[in-house]
Amino acid sequence: MIFLIMALLILAFVAFWNFDLHKIVYVKSLSQNAGDAAALVGARWQGITLNLIGDLNIMQAVALTQGDASMASDINDMQARLCYVGPMVGLVAAQQAAKNNGVFVNERFTRRIRQHADTVRFEYTALGPDGLMLFQEPYSNCWEEYADMITVVADNGVAAGPDNARLYSDFAGGHLLLDVSFYDAIAGAEWCWFFHNAYEVLLNYTDFSWWPPLPGKLPHVDPMNSEYFGLGLTKRTVISDTSVVTLMNALREDRRLSDQVISNTVTAVTSSWYCYEGGAWGPWTAISPFGEVQFPATGPVKPQYDYAGADAAARVETQATRVTPGSRTSQITWTAAAKPFGYLEGDERPNAYELVLPAFHEVRLIPVDASSAPAGGAFDLDWREHIEGHLPDYQEKGPFGLPKYCWYCQQLVVWENADFRLTGIDWLKKFSSTCRTYGGGPGSRGGGSRRGH
Ligand SMILES: [Zn+2]
Repeated sequence: MIFLIMALLILAFVAFWNFDLHKIVYVKSLSQNAGDAAALVGARWQGITLNLIGDLNIMQAVALTQGDASMASDINDMQARLCYVGPMVGLVAAQQAAKNNGVFVNERFTRRIRQHADTVRFEYTALGPDGLMLFQEPYSNCWEEYADMITVVADNGVAAGPDNARLYSDFAGGHLLLDVSFYDAIAGAEWCWFFHNAYEVLLNYTDFSWWPPLPGKLPHVDPMNSEYFGLGLTKRTVISDTSVVTLMNALREDRRLSDQVISNTVTAVTSSWYCYEGGAWGPWTAISPFGEVQFPATGPVKPQYDYAGADAAARVETQATRVTPGSRTSQITWTAAAKPFGYLEGDERPNAYELVLPAFHEVRLIPVDASSAPAGGAFDLDWREHIEGHLPDYQEKGPFGLPKYCWYCQQLVVWENADFRLTGIDWLKKFSSTCRTYGGGPGSRGGGSRRGH
């Protein structure tokens, strides 16, 4: 009987465990589909918006050819609004896409978005001592309208966090305490990471008062792009490249925008042109197997796709409750990124000219590490809480009063221990020659990044 009871017990555990495993795999595939769909639809709306802004650039050239300055100014106003409305529609659509794939509303994400709507409504619009707003509005009443749009997203419930959000008030980076890999390296006692990235810090660190002060917030003189799924555009007053007029005329005919032929003189007229130049649209260095980052790709990206710029990253967090006694719920996180792609004529990149023109035809998933999402993800709320809430306390009082539930704070406690750091210094003295660098160019398999997908 005892034997039978034991056998039954073991069988029951096997059955529970098997059930849990299936459930986790199921929830994981659900999260994956939801995250991918959300990123794709966000990027789709970025492409649509860029095409609309491009069409309006052409319409503006038509209006200026006819000498209609007030029409041109109305078009500018529409473009300024599109820079916010388009990405926000993308954010709404991303939530729907995630929900359609079976993911529920995430209460923490929703709270965070609602909080930000309040920040925009009350802090961005508050007048400073100089009588100016904290951030200058790109068009009149922009912050109110933008806050309303964010509130709508929160009211409908957020299922997929926009993981490449760049808030105007974010830290500028450039400090080890703001680098997730620093905490990962402590947790894993990855001494080689220190050898390559922060050897001086490991050698010279004394205690928490040693750190240089945290950098300031991002400088944003004139914001014009949405914080969520932003397009990374800039404005210019005159077009320096007159060869774009021929192409604008071709596109005008193709897209049946107007019968008025655009004259070469429009490039000399002072107006507001929506441009790529100087914005986020440089070469796509994050996916390059060469250079500083060394993404583990098998080869360089083709020249016609070699541009950074607008992309959308989404984070989905789901719970799989377990039935096996003694085990806790598993949290499953899926992050995905997607990007609009296109061409002007033949193989010409969409940003071959400085001016935004209708060029986007497709969206594709891209590796999260090759997107504009920061290493920790903008919607990793534990990380956000840590850098915004705990780090100021840490710099003042050290790591011992910090919250126990925060994984990052616990790494700082470990780091404060001089014996721990000494272990690393001793180890590196003997073995630092075995530390390999990442990447090594195409064809090499010299170790990759932490998040390869
Ligand atoms: Zn913390």
